[in-house]
Amino acid sequence: HTSSSSLYSTSPRSMGLASAAERVAAEFEYSKEDVNRGVQAFIEQMDEGLGKVGATMSQIPTYVTAVPNGTEKGLYMAVDLGGTNFRVCSIQLHGNSTFSLTQSKVAIPKDLMVAKTSHELFSFLAKQIELFLKTHHGEHYQSHTERKASMIGLGGYKDEEIFSLGFTFSFPVQQYGINKGTLIRWTKGFDIHDTVGKDVCALLQKEIDALSLPVRVAALVNDTVGTLMARSYTSPGKTGTLLGAIFGTGTNGAYVEKLGKVTKLKNMGKEAGEIDESTGEMIVNTEWGSFDNHMSVLPDTPYDKDLDRESVNPGIQMFEKRVSGMFLGEILRRAIIALVNDPSVPLFSDEDSSRNDVHSTTIIHPSSPLYQQWGLDTSFLSITSGDSSSGLKVTRQTLDVDYGVSAASAEDAEAVRLIAAAVGKRAARLSAVAIAAVVISTDSLARTGDDVDIGVDGSLVEFYPNFEDYIREALRDIPQIGPQGEKRIRIGIAKDGSGVGAALIALVADKAMRAGPP
Ligand code: BGC
Ligand code: MG
Repeated sequence: HTSSSSLYSTSPRSMGLASAAERVAAEFEYSKEDVNRGVQAFIEQMDEGLGKVGATMSQIPTYVTAVPNGTEKGLYMAVDLGGTNFRVCSIQLHGNSTFSLTQSKVAIPKDLMVAKTSHELFSFLAKQIELFLKTHHGEHYQSHTERKASMIGLGGYKDEEIFSLGFTFSFPVQQYGINKGTLIRWTKGFDIHDTVGKDVCALLQKEIDALSLPVRVAALVNDTVGTLMARSYTSPGKTGTLLGAIFGTGTNGAYVEKLGKVTKLKNMGKEAGEIDESTGEMIVNTEWGSFDNHMSVLPDTPYDKDLDRESVNPGIQMFEKRVSGMFLGEILRRAIIALVNDPSVPLFSDEDSSRNDVHSTTIIHPSSPLYQQWGLDTSFLSITSGDSSSGLKVTRQTLDVDYGVSAASAEDAEAVRLIAAAVGKRAARLSAVAIAAVVISTDSLARTGDDVDIGVDGSLVEFYPNFEDYIREALRDIPQIGPQGEKRIRIGIAKDGSGVGAALIALVADKAMRAGPP
C-alpha cells in the first residue's frame, strides 16, 4: 500500500506510535514528591558517609582545607585521567584570577581501560607526560636526556627543575594524605583488578621515574575537587565556592564541609596535628555516583534494571547510572529497542508491512549500533532534544548516518525525541537532588546573605539543551530552597577546571612540603 504523509500522521498506526512513546516517556517522570524524597535520603546518606568509612556514599576527606582566592602564582603540571581522554597540561597561574594553560589530549585506548595490569595503563600515562615535556617544555626534557645515565628517579635534578604535578584521578580513592590514596573501585567502564587497593600516586610516580622525568606527583585530586578549586580561583566571591560538580561521563560532587562534621577522621588514624585545622573546613569528595546503591528512593525502570544487570559493576554507582553521560544513551537505546521489539508498536517499521503482523520488518540495518550494548552515544540525546529543524530532519539524518536507520519518518523521530527528552529531564532533576542536598545540609542559604556559588563541568551541563533550566525547575520544587533560594544559587561552568584545580592543589601541597610537618 502507499500513503501520503498527511494521511500517515493521523493513521491508527502513527497514533499508536505516539501513545507508545508517551507511555515510555511517562516511565521517566520524576515528580516533585520524588525530588523531595530524594533530597531527604541524600542528606541522610551524606551524614552516614561523614561518620564512617565504607558507607554507600563514600564522603572522602581530601585533606584540602582551603579554597584559593585568586592570588596564587606559579608554573605547575597537571594530568587528568577520568573518562574518555587523558590530558596533560602545564598551567601558569598569574595570581590575578587568570591563568594560561598548555595542554595535550589523547583518547584512552579501550584495551587499556580493561588492561590486565596497572603497569600497562600507568606506563602509557608516563609516556604521554614525556611526550608533552618534549613538545612543550624542551628545556626540562633535554636536561633529562643529557644526564640520564647518572640519574635515578628525581635524584639528578635540581629542585627548581622539577615540576610539581597535580594528578587528577577521577575515580573513588581512599585518600591518606594530599598525594597518597588507594583506589576503592573503578567506575565508568574501567576495570583493572590489579589496581584496586593500590596507591595510584605511587603507581604513576614509579612509571615517571622509570623514564627519569623531572616530575613529582605532588597532589592527588578528584576532578570535582579540581573543579571546585578552579571555580574558586577564577571567580572568588565573598564566601567562596561551595560545590564543584561534574555531570559528564560520570557524575560526582565535592563540597566545603565543616571539619567538625567529618567525624570519621578520628577513626582514620589521623592525629590532629597532621591536618591543617586553621580554616575549620575540609573539602569532602562525596562520590555521590553511588548515592542510594541499595535503591531506597532511586527511580528504576525496566531499562535501568537491564542496564545495571549487564554492566561491569552491577549494584554500584546506581545514581550515576541514571544521571551521567556514560549511561543515558544506553538507557534510551534500551527503551527504543523495547518498542521496536513490541509488535504492536510501529517504531522504525517498514511502511510496506503491517505492524499487526508479527513478522513485519524494520528499517534498522541489522548491524546498527542500536542493537549493541553502549551503541547509542549520549550525544544523540543532546542532538535530538535540541533539534528544531523542520520534520526533525537533523535527528533523522543522525539516525541514518550514525545508527543505520534509513528513512525514519518524522513520527519515528518525534517518538525517539520524546523519550530522549524524558531521560534527559529525569537526569537533570536527579542532579538537582544532589545539588539541593549539599546546599541544604551545609545550611548555605541561611548562613550568609550571599549567593551560593557552584562550579560545574562535563558534557551534560555543557551540551545537553536546558540541562540547567531543568535543574532549576526542580530546585524550585524543594521547599527549603524554593523560588527565592533558587535565584541565589549561582551555577557557573568551570570548563576543564580540573587541570587548573589540580595545579592549585599541587601548589598547596608544595607549600606544605617546603614548610615541613606542622
Ligand atoms: C567517579 C568520580 C568522578 C566522577 C566524574 C565517577 O564515576 O567515581 O570519582 O568524580 O565519575 O568524573
Ligand atoms: Mg573529566
